[in-house]
Amino acid sequence: MGEIGKLGFGFMRLPLIERDGEQIIDIEQAKQMVDIFMEAGFTYFDTARGYHLGKSEGALKEALVDRYPRESFQIASKLPAWASKGADHSRAMFDKSLRETGAGYFDFFLMHNMGEGRTKAFDEQGIWDFLFEKKDAGLIRNLGLSFHDKADVFAEVLDSHPPVDFVQLQINYADWENSLVESRKCYEVARERNLPVIVMEPVKGGSLVRLPAAATDVLRAANPDVSIASWGLRFAASLPGVLTVLSGMSTPDQVRDNVKTMTELGPLTEDERAALEQVRAILAAIPTVPCTSCQYCVEGCPEGINIPVVLNALNVVTLFDDKAMASNEYDWRTADARASSCIECGACENACPQHIAIIDELKRAVELFEKNPA
Ligand code: SF4
Ligand code: SF4
Repeated sequence: MGEIGKLGFGFMRLPLIERDGEQIIDIEQAKQMVDIFMEAGFTYFDTARGYHLGKSEGALKEALVDRYPRESFQIASKLPAWASKGADHSRAMFDKSLRETGAGYFDFFLMHNMGEGRTKAFDEQGIWDFLFEKKDAGLIRNLGLSFHDKADVFAEVLDSHPPVDFVQLQINYADWENSLVESRKCYEVARERNLPVIVMEPVKGGSLVRLPAAATDVLRAANPDVSIASWGLRFAASLPGVLTVLSGMSTPDQVRDNVKTMTELGPLTEDERAALEQVRAILAAIPTVPCTSCQYCVEGCPEGINIPVVLNALNVVTLFDDKAMASNEYDWRTADARASSCIECGACENACPQHIAIIDELKRAVELFEKNPA
């Protein structure tokens, strides 16, 4: 598998610009970010069929594949069998990923977002065999899976299928002992099987970047010279067996900060670990919605509701007690489809790896932002 830099570039939260009234990926800024990342010696890029509503793979081609020699970087993409219309559609998705990225082959390829009711689609559609055939044909160099469910389910999935080359897990200091996510336990399942781990959500979709004041104070006191985001990256990168830590970066400054974190800052000290324990306790006491803005729920919503935006607005109220700011964000970012347009079909809850009771949360948003606006 070879050595890979400890920072991976997730193509799921790219910068956006408005064009003809539509939000599209700002490809010129994405190119700039890729250049900063590559110049710093990092080479791992992570995309997926569904990121940016199907536009991420094409952006990766434009910003990276068309501009750098193929052997100078690694590409990972993913297949979400649970979101397809059946085996033929899933197989076509793989071909489309190859075509859209222009990669020629995938250095890493994942069965996407396994766990809960989603796992069976990969079995029923014969996706395991299909992807091992692609590996034998040289179109995949390392085959793995990303997973969101309990650790015992994870172990069962791994032990009842042919061995994969690596796994991708949600690991961050806030979720390490979270009983819904079971970060630590899933990590241990992988370690027991000598599986390299790629870390996703090291800053929990950005929520560990903008912390409540009490938590920020603890981290600033422990080390005033580093960014708040750096704590999440260093926590994940310090774990043995971690191949790389993905960050879904949105600005050149975020790339620079993450590069600095991974090149200049060493592993966490004992005092820093103690500070993170304090922060974990502070966060655990605040009842936020555990949305990571992964967007998996968005594409399947028949009403086009931007669910993570709604949930983020709820969290802004909880974390910062700022209903005016949250209402403002809710108003302009849900103008096309308010939470009240939900028909309770449940498609979003089936897709959500964080087990969020989305329908109930949307009802809460209706009460808070639509019936009783700030
Ligand atoms: S339950 Fe509501 S929010 Fe979820 S997919 Fe259906 S309409 Fe969209
Ligand atoms: S609600 Fe769930 S699926 Fe949707 S963005 Fe949040 S974490 Fe992802």
